[in-house]
Amino acid sequence: MKTRSANRSILIVGSVALDDIDGPFGKHPDLLGGSASFISRAAAYFTDKVSVVAVVGHDFPSQYLTEMDALGIDISGIERADGSTFHWSGKYSDDLSSRETLDTRLGVFATFQPKLAALHKRAELVFLGNIDPVLQLDVVEQTEAPVLVALDTMNFWIGGKRADLLKTLRKVHTLLVNDEEARQLAEEHNLRKAAARILKMGPSSVVIKRGDAGALLFHGGGVFGVPALPLEDVRDPTGAGDSFAGGFMGYLSYAGNLEPATIRTAMIVGSTMASFAVEKFSVDGLRGLTSEAIQQRFDAFTELTKFDSIRL
Ligand code: AMP
Repeated sequence: MKTRSANRSILIVGSVALDDIDGPFGKHPDLLGGSASFISRAAAYFTDKVSVVAVVGHDFPSQYLTEMDALGIDISGIERADGSTFHWSGKYSDDLSSRETLDTRLGVFATFQPKLAALHKRAELVFLGNIDPVLQLDVVEQTEAPVLVALDTMNFWIGGKRADLLKTLRKVHTLLVNDEEARQLAEEHNLRKAAARILKMGPSSVVIKRGDAGALLFHGGGVFGVPALPLEDVRDPTGAGDSFAGGFMGYLSYAGNLEPATIRTAMIVGSTMASFAVEKFSVDGLRGLTSEAIQQRFDAFTELTKFDSIRL
């Protein structure tokens, strides 16, 4: 299924990983994970111009790359290097509301030095998925003139490579983070104040994802909020943020403009794709969706938030 019109090209840099997930539904080792895996799959429902720049190791199953290729994702920028694939282990609380990182093994990402091909340098939309901010900066500096650079990061990098991250943020238009990350980055608990601080670090808009509390968009013009859809089955929240990012970028590609109304719609499309991702493990929730299924879930958001104004 492809729904595309303007079809702006998207370049994604991020992790392609193997994840060990533990939580109320048991232990699931060696699942396909990584920020770029979720982002590219979610975005590919809206455009066939998705390229990924990443690295995998000798232990990465080729079948996953074949699948991405079959989805129309350009994998020419995914290098196979000598070493182990990035491996992340996380454990969720019984109610899935929080997670703890048990282990992060960078493997081949520790020495990765992306060299963008001409096609990738010309990308119109660039998404710097969660990975070392030094690599994120390296990639954005190689691009020619993207109309939008968006970035996601996490506690591991905010705490571990803060100075590098602040340098990278100066090149970024839109930051996407979860509420904990926004607080940690801004060193401010109140989200509104945290967003205001982040907007002084470089980005002109910041999207704060809040799990089952939805997402907020802060920009010069104010704040816009989206609830999360109340779902019956939530199994694995891993990749929710990345799937949001994929839907968000995919829709911006599809719409072909960055008008405030388009960005608001992209927030709902992002929430729609995240809602699919959390229903199953790994990228399974993003497999085989039809345009009808995506449309139906998007409409459920409209229904959830529709109300009449009052006249006092
Ligand atoms: P999300 O749940 O959207 O925050 O993304 C989870 C994905 O991020 C997992 O599939 C991990 O493989 C990946 N991940 C976790 N930690 C890191 C990290 N430090 N750098 C890059 N990717 C990571």
